[in-house]
Amino acid sequence: MRGCCFPVTFDRSPRGSFRLVRNSSFELSKRGGRRENQRGPVVVCFGEMMVNLVPTVEGVSLGDALAYEKSPAGATANVAVGISRLGCSAAFIGKVGKDEFGYMLSDILKQNGVDNSGLLFDENARTGLVFYQIKSDGEHEFMFYRNPSADMLLRPAEIDMKLIKKAAVFHYGSVSLIKEPCKSAHLAAMNVAKMCGSVLSYAPNIALPLWPSPEAARETIMGIWNYADIIKVSEEEVRFLTQGDDPYDDKVIMKKLYHCNLKLLLVTEGAQGCRFYTKDFKGKVSGFEVEAVDTTGAGDSFTSGFLSIVAAHKQIYKDERRLREALDFANACGAVTVTGRGAIPSLPSKDAVLRILLSY
Ligand code: ADP
Repeated sequence: MRGCCFPVTFDRSPRGSFRLVRNSSFELSKRGGRRENQRGPVVVCFGEMMVNLVPTVEGVSLGDALAYEKSPAGATANVAVGISRLGCSAAFIGKVGKDEFGYMLSDILKQNGVDNSGLLFDENARTGLVFYQIKSDGEHEFMFYRNPSADMLLRPAEIDMKLIKKAAVFHYGSVSLIKEPCKSAHLAAMNVAKMCGSVLSYAPNIALPLWPSPEAARETIMGIWNYADIIKVSEEEVRFLTQGDDPYDDKVIMKKLYHCNLKLLLVTEGAQGCRFYTKDFKGKVSGFEVEAVDTTGAGDSFTSGFLSIVAAHKQIYKDERRLREALDFANACGAVTVTGRGAIPSLPSKDAVLRILLSY
């Protein structure tokens, strides 16, 4: 299958044994799975890219920290890099400041093989910053510098709609819905993608400190719910969106989060793996047992793995067996990511994912 990202087909008898049954596009390359001339249909990711600043010493509060280490942040950008690292085509649309941090983020996309032609530079606003730490009492501390940052100033007229028209999959989150003009840009891009027949993939991220109130977050996130073909949420997000309902109750999921246009709803459960819901069937795919070091980026890595397959198999939600295989692959992506520190540095190559799949 030319351009197919689906890496391998296997049977998974009870956890612990994989049997390769077909080997269509299975190819371990020495360069981490990247095959430049055969990268297949493009996944276009839309959203924000910021610089994350984390104290060099764990556990100290942001105010007490003496030094910070910088890293790229932004869920949909992580997904774009993840897809590219798996050997598939990805592009990113967003805006950064015309400053050193903006250039750095743009270079990170490029170095990772992501088409960064849709990343714009704003002359008048800085690249967004987020200082982040988990304090010794386990509390998460955030300090955002977005008053406004360049990502929030992306306007509908600035978007390269030609890039969106090429998208087999158009993937987005919800931080880009918080403020205008970026919200209108997001909606315009989403509408074009929908009209062009792209699969619309939505992975809302709650990021409460960025919203005026939890109610505003819930209402806006749910406001675009019915557009998506595929939605991925974590258990924590289910709890928030359903206002505290049990995220394991299938009736809650189907009643409150499933909608008539939706093809597939995915609920990730950390180390446990994920659940899937379509209008015809539902089920669970177990995760992989690994030694977790840092869970940052696990959900984005999972999404990358799954979308890299959807790009070439748009109807995968109709076939339960193939869907389970794809979710196994996605779980393996998430598992590899938690074994390393940081999101982008820990996004796996196809070889790394296959190693974990074959070792079970
Ligand atoms: P998010 O990062 O969006 O909160 P999850 O924590 O549910 O999402 O993780 C996403 C996926 O990453 C899971 O479905 C699973 O496949 C994988 N994963 C996450 N944590 C672990 C872990 N500790 N061990 C193995 N796999 C994990």
